[in-house]
Parts: sequence; structure tokens; C-alpha cells
Amino acid sequence: MQRSLLLIFLLATVSFAAQRPNIVLIFTDDHAYQAIGAYGSRINETPNIDRIAREGMRFDRCYVTNSICGPCRATVLTGKYSHKNGYYNNEGQAPFDNMQVTFPLLLQGAGYETALIGKWHLQSNPTGFHHWNILPNQGQYYNPVMVSNVGHIDGLTEVRIGYTTELLTQLALKWFENRIAKDRPFLLMLQHKAPHRPWEPGPKQLGMYEDEKIPEPASLFEEYSQRGKAVREQDMTIAETMTAGDLKLTEPEGLTPEQLEAWNAAYEPGNAALRGVKLSKQDLVRWKYQRYIKDYLRCVAAVDDSVGQVLDYLDESGLAENTIVVYCSDQGFYLGEHGWFDKRWMYEESLRTPLLVRWPGVAKAGSYTEAISSPLDLAETFLDAAGAEIPVDMQGRSLRPLLGGETPADWRKSFYYHFYEYPGSHSVRKHYGVTDGRFKLIHFYEPDVNEWELYDLHNDRAEVVNLYGRKTYATVQAKMHAELDRLRKELEVPEVDPPESIVRRASQPVGQ
Ligand code: CA
Repeated sequence: MQRSLLLIFLLATVSFAAQRPNIVLIFTDDHAYQAIGAYGSRINETPNIDRIAREGMRFDRCYVTNSICGPCRATVLTGKYSHKNGYYNNEGQAPFDNMQVTFPLLLQGAGYETALIGKWHLQSNPTGFHHWNILPNQGQYYNPVMVSNVGHIDGLTEVRIGYTTELLTQLALKWFENRIAKDRPFLLMLQHKAPHRPWEPGPKQLGMYEDEKIPEPASLFEEYSQRGKAVREQDMTIAETMTAGDLKLTEPEGLTPEQLEAWNAAYEPGNAALRGVKLSKQDLVRWKYQRYIKDYLRCVAAVDDSVGQVLDYLDESGLAENTIVVYCSDQGFYLGEHGWFDKRWMYEESLRTPLLVRWPGVAKAGSYTEAISSPLDLAETFLDAAGAEIPVDMQGRSLRPLLGGETPADWRKSFYYHFYEYPGSHSVRKHYGVTDGRFKLIHFYEPDVNEWELYDLHNDRAEVVNLYGRKTYATVQAKMHAELDRLRKELEVPEVDPPESIVRRASQPVGQ
């Protein structure tokens, strides 16, 4: 009897193991929701990314904890805010402590085969992956240097010739085929550099949109004179901040002769035409916007192709039915709104990031939710999916109930944000704040600013009318202050920023 019980138990365990879903996280860099069809883009199409939304769930209020590349990656891995995982900034930041607990490490311990391919941007070597092959630092769009682990040796460095988005996709497809233990569930993190600055399109996309005019955002020519000091003193405008390299008035370094020929054939006619005219200041901004947005969308198009190839592979290999596919970006981005590019702010375009989840049997096809979610939740979602234990000090929550169409009564109704990197690229002041999806309270602080902003997103979607201090909003303001205090306490945010959060100057080249 005992023996048969044991057999039943073992079989149940094996069966459970067999059913545990595979996880594919496709993570991009600076991909704005405004440039995704499923989020209602009016400037481009993304049929493959949209397929994930059509067959799964779209999260409409996915907020990041700290809107820059490295810190968001650290948050995804650890399920913790910057003040808990120690990774605050891109610039002047100590390497990510790769000895701390991360979800890939826990999945590995739970029997998953794990792999990471693409952008890493955390300085220290990845841990928790059987296989990793990364772009060091920001990585390059063409002919990238890549660093990988082979067996037990970390740090094999090689240069791959080609377009990075395509190369990473090929490496991912190859990894699917070469998995060590095909009877085990797997985790693949495919992390593109695209569509990060300097938005260099691949050979297949160079001519896209050439004869089109992409619609301009309404606030492309916003004036900042009535805005707070933080907005007035930023350095991220299309008008002033973009470089000749950003605008492809100079050619990138390191292209092969063939790549360079295709590049110059694509850009030189436009550059020659620009040299032959004298544009007004406003028309020059319009020209820059078109050059910028087309390149950005070309990079997105290559990412969309990559997503299509991964989805096709999962279909053809029979893996799709038992594989969770997540599409997420490390943060949002400005596509000319407020006259800007880049991210960092707690304003909507950079606070919100796209999050699409296809989970067969769990996520209802074509569904969406306005419940507040975050990349902070991914670690716990994946551990939940794997049936692995979730550490109590993680600060997110599994998205599984939302995916199943249920928003628990105690689901978060507000969200805390904190940006630390000042002084830094683009000169965005340190700030923290809270939003409940309707209102947003932000505090800009240190070293020479101490200003509060309050926005009503229903009446002022563009977040340009600061309501802080207005009598009619006194009750809202008090409520948001109380919520901010509550969240800072709950999340154990130090009263004074820790020394590790301070940007150490001249420690490394500028990261964007
Ligand atoms: Ca980023």
C-alpha cells in the first residue's frame, strides 16, 4: 500500500514537473507603448507584438519603479525597488550585486533550464543562468561585441557580424534547439538593445517610412516657461539635445563596407537636401522629429520581426501551448511629447511601459486590465507559474489572478516611483511620487530644488497644469500625501537617500 502511494506521489510530482510552463520574456529597451499597435499606436504597426495581446492580456497601467535601463533590469530580476536591490542609476553606479536572490536563480533551483541573451547593462556578470550571451554595457546595433559563458568559464568575448536585433534572435532560436535538458521547463530572457538611442535601423528597415510623414505629437513645440524648475532645466529636447549622430548627419563607426554603402544610400540624399536649404527653427525641429521617429520605428519594426520569429518557432516546435510569452520594455519613452525624447520622469510616457502576457489556459485571449501592474511583479509571477517558493521580501505580486480575469480586493490601488540619477545625462532632477491612476503627486528634490507637482490625469492627460496648492484640490492633495507616506513606509524607503544612490562622477563612460 505504502509503495503504491509512493508511486502515485512520484507520478504526481513528475506530472506536475511536466506541466510547469516554459517562460519566454522578450524584454526591449525604451519601447514606448505609443509605438505598439495593441496600445493604439497612430504612428506604426506591430503585428507580431500585437499577436501576444490578441492571444493574451494587455496591461494598461504597467508602471516602472525607476525609469532608466539598469535599475529597471535589477528590479525585474529581484522583484525589488532600487533601494532594496542597490541598483539606483545607470551612471556612477556600483556593479549589480549578483550574489543576491533573483528569480532566474530560484527557477534554476526549481529545475528550470535558464538562459539570457542580449542586453544586460548591470556591469557584473549574470548569475542564475545556465547559458548567457550578453552585449556588454549599452551594446552596439551593428557588429556587436558579445560576452558569454561557456561551460564553467565566464567571459568569452567575440564580435558577431550583422545587425544586433537579428543576431540576438538567431541566438535565441539556436538556444531553443540546443537546450541541454529538453525534458525540463525553461526560462529564456531575450533582451534587445533596440529601440534604444541612437536608433540605428537594420539593413532590412533602412528604407521604411521614407516617403511618409509621421504624425507629430500635439505637444512637440511645448513651451516650459510656466512649468516647474525640473522641467525648465531638463536637457532632452529634440530641438536642442539631439546630436549629429542621433540624427544620422554623421555615419556610425564600425560598419562593414557593405553596411556602410547601404547606410549612406539611405541617409545621404536626405542629408544633402538638408544642406541645400535654410530651415526656420520650427521647421528644423520638424525635420529632426521625422528623422528621429522614423529611425525609432524602424528599430521597432526589427523587434517586431524578432517577436514573430520566436512565436513561429514556439508554434512549429509544439512548445507554444505550454509556454508563457511576455513582452515588456524596461520603461516607456518620449516620442516627441513635450518636445522630448528619452525617459526618467514620473510623467506618463516614461512611467508607463508596455506589458503583454500570453499564458495559454490562464490569460483570457484579447483581454486587458487597468489594475496597476509593474515589471516589479514579473519575478513573483514567474515563480508562481513554476510553483516555486516566493521570497517574502520581494515587493511585487504575482499577476496570475489578473490574468485569470480576477482583480483581488486587496490589489494595489496606488504606486510608488523614485528616480535618483542627478546630476546625470539629460539633467532630470531627483524625484519620487505616487499615482493612483487618476491623480499623481511628485516631489522634485535636491540639491537646489524642492518643488511639488500634482496632476489630474482625467482632466489634464498631458500633465502640464500643476494643481499643487490649489484650494479646490486640497482634499486630493492631502489624500495623495497620506498615500505617499504610507507607501514609503510600507516599502521601507529610507528617509534620506542612501550614499549608494548618489551618482559617483567620472567613474565610467556615460550610459544613456
Ligand atoms: Ca531603457
